[in-house]
Amino acid sequence: MNHFIWRKGVLHAEGVPLPAIAESVGTPTYVYSAATLTRHFRVVSEAFGATPHLICYSVKANSNLAILRLFAGLGGGFDIVSGGELARVKQAGGAAEKTVFAGVGKTQEEMEAALAAGILLFNVESAEELDALDAVGRRLGRRAPFALRVNPDVDARTHRYISTGLKTSKFGVPFEEAVALYTRAKKLKGVRAAGLDCHIGSQLTQASPMRAALTKVAGLYTELKAAGHPLAYLDVGGGLGITYTDETPPSPEEYARTVLDATKGTGAHLVLEPGRALVGNAGVLLTRVLYRKKTPAKHFVVVDAGMNDLIRPALYEAHHGFQPLVKRRGKAVEVDVVGPVCESTDVLAKARSLVLPQAGELYAFMSAGAYGMSMASNYNSRPRPAEVMVDGEAWRVVRERERIEDLWRGERA
Ligand SMILES: *Cc1c(COP(=O)(O)O)cnc(C)c1O
Repeated sequence: MNHFIWRKGVLHAEGVPLPAIAESVGTPTYVYSAATLTRHFRVVSEAFGATPHLICYSVKANSNLAILRLFAGLGGGFDIVSGGELARVKQAGGAAEKTVFAGVGKTQEEMEAALAAGILLFNVESAEELDALDAVGRRLGRRAPFALRVNPDVDARTHRYISTGLKTSKFGVPFEEAVALYTRAKKLKGVRAAGLDCHIGSQLTQASPMRAALTKVAGLYTELKAAGHPLAYLDVGGGLGITYTDETPPSPEEYARTVLDATKGTGAHLVLEPGRALVGNAGVLLTRVLYRKKTPAKHFVVVDAGMNDLIRPALYEAHHGFQPLVKRRGKAVEVDVVGPVCESTDVLAKARSLVLPQAGELYAFMSAGAYGMSMASNYNSRPRPAEVMVDGEAWRVVRERERIEDLWRGERA
């Protein structure tokens, strides 16, 4: 469910007509709905009911300060993968004590900053990283709380580029090595075992891989507790998928049932790391049509948003709905919607059946709230888009469009 709705043939975000935002701020522009963000957070949290749980929003999905602040205000924690993301969380007023830190390549500087800030958990991804964390802990005279991220060797059945739970993936510690590592960690003075973690991939549309992975991981959690490791947190990762076109991912209720079933009896405080499920359908990317061209093979529609603004189609063969902001009538033709970037992969919507768009018209790429702006770049020296937050009838710019001078900030000729 989201709050991008048609009213009298005009696409709105909550109470605001999207053409008004596009005319005022220009295009391309990301627009987010505060009501949708809030609703998604609450629905996921409520699905877990009375079971102790902490929702650690995965910052990399969309790291805008306004979004972080909104989730912090709802009592959320954060899942970060860099020192930069920790700084954003702090800047937005988020709590380090509710923040978990994942990633295979944390530097000692990043670990120090996170430990000094009082982070909840370091999700450690290798034996050598555990030693580095131990060194940081001893240097700061504290024990860094850690969870091993184990790799349960389960096929998440998602796109191979966003699958992380297979043996061949760079993520996590092999499942079989976990017990030995916790045992070794007992002797280290700079760390303390506080939990167990896994994350098998993103855009998961089936419950069965989650169930398989979490059943394995919950068994390991119980085994470690029985062996005397003082674990309190079971971090089940993120990955819950959303509907971009015709996918039918588990509902939050079904997701929660799967997690609660697989982990029942552990007595653990659950940590959840949803990213896409909270923000994906809470954002759209507004764009304006520049030109059309017809070749013997195809109709092309050239828009002012490119793969630098929204890379998911080029990177993951992802599908985003493409809708006019003002409803159109007429005969549909098949078009490829392309951006201005000089790359053949700059195709944002392929083989869509549409009333032929006209130059100057406004459109939206739907479901663009996750891994949209956070993956945007300046490729082709294109300033990154503006971002807008809508809340009821009100809206405000939550990130200005980059200016041309921003393109060479820090450079020397
Ligand atoms: C990316 C990531 C997430 C969030 O994934 P979504 O599919 O957006 O829910 C959660 N945890 C970790 C460790 C991640 O890397």
